[in-house]
Amino acid sequence: MADSVSSARVSAAPAVSLSVVVPVFNEEAVLPLFYARIRAVLDGLRLPSWELIFINDGSRDRTLDGLRALAAADPAHVRYLSLSRNFGHQIAVSAGLDVTRGEVVAIIDADLQDPPELIAPMLAELRAGQLDVLYAQRRKREGESFAKTLTARGFYRTMAALTSVEIPVDTGDFRLITHRVVDVLRRMPEQHKFLRGQIAWVGFRQQAFLYDRAARAAGETGYTWKKMLRLATDALTGFSNVPLKLASFMGFAVSGVSLLLMLYTLYSRLVLKDYQPGWASLMMTVLFLGGIQLIAVGLIGEYLGRLSDNVRNRPLYILGEDSGEIKA
Ligand code: UDP
Ligand code: MG
Repeated sequence: MADSVSSARVSAAPAVSLSVVVPVFNEEAVLPLFYARIRAVLDGLRLPSWELIFINDGSRDRTLDGLRALAAADPAHVRYLSLSRNFGHQIAVSAGLDVTRGEVVAIIDADLQDPPELIAPMLAELRAGQLDVLYAQRRKREGESFAKTLTARGFYRTMAALTSVEIPVDTGDFRLITHRVVDVLRRMPEQHKFLRGQIAWVGFRQQAFLYDRAARAAGETGYTWKKMLRLATDALTGFSNVPLKLASFMGFAVSGVSLLLMLYTLYSRLVLKDYQPGWASLMMTVLFLGGIQLIAVGLIGEYLGRLSDNVRNRPLYILGEDSGEIKA
């Protein structure tokens, strides 16, 4: 978009108009369908140049053969990276982003759940609105189990409640981003990727594009429950310190209640004189230690939260624009 300053480190100027990043994991059945449809869309856009970057995320079927064939048939547009094993969707997309050269980058699933045809109107909207991020937001989902829809809804809402960055609800990774956003993502070296959160964190001008999510064209979901759970954990730990603060919160709550109970214990022991031998001292010790321990754990949690902020090593801020130095 506009050539404003994006980072201190000057990055190479984009070489192509549009890069499309496609992670693929066991997609041999949909690959030809996907290529035919995206090819038609990209040809129709009449861009000066574009590239299609596939990342084979350790597929165990013949996806890699398919990619080799595509790259051989369309060497001017198709490039593929093949990871040594299955690293997961988020890392596969990150690997793709590392090599894009596009002014604008589209991230899209290969299974045709995100209709490639939408890239045309999305690109028009991105340009018209001078946006940096246009994320596709699901109006409805086709052909997905009730359990998946329910857990996804619950997940997005919980995240919204627990995080400080505003991560849009019902939004996957299907989106267009400008190269300055890609530059920032490359400067976020965190190990546990949650790209939607990271992109929300980057800022600039972001907008939603509503669409209906289709059913998978062929093949099966690569997102097992285990992978979804890992994604949710990465999202939570990457963008929220609320769980760490839980111990301090409980510590103070427990200490408050303990204090009242201690007063009652002392009252029974000294005034009412209605007690069993040993009861008062035992009560005092248990209540005191319970509170102290939780507060101490909470304190460690606070430090751990700060430590993880530092370890993530994100840029402290991202510049949108700069008027330049004042000349005396
Ligand atoms: N994918 C991947 N690595 C994985 C799982 C999935 O690269 O470990 C790719 C997959 O090929 C597809 C996209 O990520 O292009 C979304 O995955 P999928 O359709 O399986 O997830 P769902 O849509 O069911 O959430
Ligand atoms: Mg899918």
